[in-house]
Amino acid sequence: MIIRARIVVTMDGAPIENGAVAVSGNQIADVGRFDDIKTRNAGNTVDLGEQVLLPGLINAHCHLDYSCLRGKIPPQKSFTDWIRAINAEKSALSPKDYAASIKKGFEEAKRFGTTTIANLTAFPELIPQVRPPIRTWWFAELIDIRAAECANELVDSAIESLRSLECADMSALSKQRRVAALQTQHWGLAPHALFTASKDLFRRCEEIAQREHILLTTHLAESREEMEMFRDGSGALYEFMKSIGRPMNDSGNETPLGLFLDLIGSGGSPNRPYLSWIVAHVNELTESDFDLLERSNSKFHMVHCPRSHNYFGHSPFAFDRLRSLGFNVCLGTDSLASNETLSLFDEMRAFQKNFRLVSPEEILQMVTVKAARALRYENALGQIRPGFGADLIAVPCTGLTDIFEELIAWDAPVDWIFARDDQEQVL
Ligand SMILES: [Zn+2]
Repeated sequence: MIIRARIVVTMDGAPIENGAVAVSGNQIADVGRFDDIKTRNAGNTVDLGEQVLLPGLINAHCHLDYSCLRGKIPPQKSFTDWIRAINAEKSALSPKDYAASIKKGFEEAKRFGTTTIANLTAFPELIPQVRPPIRTWWFAELIDIRAAECANELVDSAIESLRSLECADMSALSKQRRVAALQTQHWGLAPHALFTASKDLFRRCEEIAQREHILLTTHLAESREEMEMFRDGSGALYEFMKSIGRPMNDSGNETPLGLFLDLIGSGGSPNRPYLSWIVAHVNELTESDFDLLERSNSKFHMVHCPRSHNYFGHSPFAFDRLRSLGFNVCLGTDSLASNETLSLFDEMRAFQKNFRLVSPEEILQMVTVKAARALRYENALGQIRPGFGADLIAVPCTGLTDIFEELIAWDAPVDWIFARDDQEQVL
């Protein structure tokens, strides 16, 4: 199949006017000017007309579990109050509600042009019930505040659910489709945060990551209260965590970032384990934290969630400093319990409002090339290149202004999408 569009934004060099992409199965076979692609490739042509064709977007951090909580929790006075509020909402939800919520979330993400998602779920046992319409990295979100001695068991049981991915989806499929399905479902582990997951839990997850070559993700230095808890041994989060029985002997000495860097594998080791980490938020950093980051070789990946950040009113995100220190910063939506939509276009625009000097092209990289790098799929996703996954979307364009600027301004559902589901139909 040959897909022609007025402009092809490959994210691999300059946009191509009157461009086309040749797709074979679920892979890109060729890309270039329409005339050249027509000459070099056989197959039917789908002409998208006055549209720009680009790689499908990649959401590097979200929780589809809570898609049913949109608009349910107004902004709270403190982060700790928000935790209390979401816990109250969650107590009314059944496994059936969560499974429905995850499915709705997937549909919405796809409708807005997301073709790959890093989704944290607190309910890995529900994974076999959900068939994602897009490429998915499932992260089991793990919390052991009340059962720190059971870290290993907790991780092992999550892995059992995650491994079901390798067979649940496959039984009725042809061999070719089975191979394709395997390439679109991945798993990883998400010790929730330093204040909810024990050191043993973090260490166990790192052990598994090295053994299984999986990815890890966590929330770090998200709120001022988390900073207060760890650095000062005080504040609302400290009091709340203490009241629910968390051992607090790690509080009052170090910043969250300091604790995290002590915990994770050192950047100098041959396996570079820090590259397994996709760290969400990193909003609260002290000058000593910046010194640590400058000295540290552990250049883990970071995810900034602009609209969730605005909702909570966190300290300004230090994008420029982190980028100049060499960190790979991507964008995510976080959940609908602290956001209004799962559209990465909305997220790019929210980022642009706060960071006017970052070019629209670089902002688009944060949901394509850079996000693919965080998932260690920079050689298969996030660009339109031969051999890459044929995850493609198209939106109308006028060509009157900068094409990247025009893309970021897109604020409606995406009409033309070629993602996991569509690819499997072709196979
Ligand atoms: Zn999150």
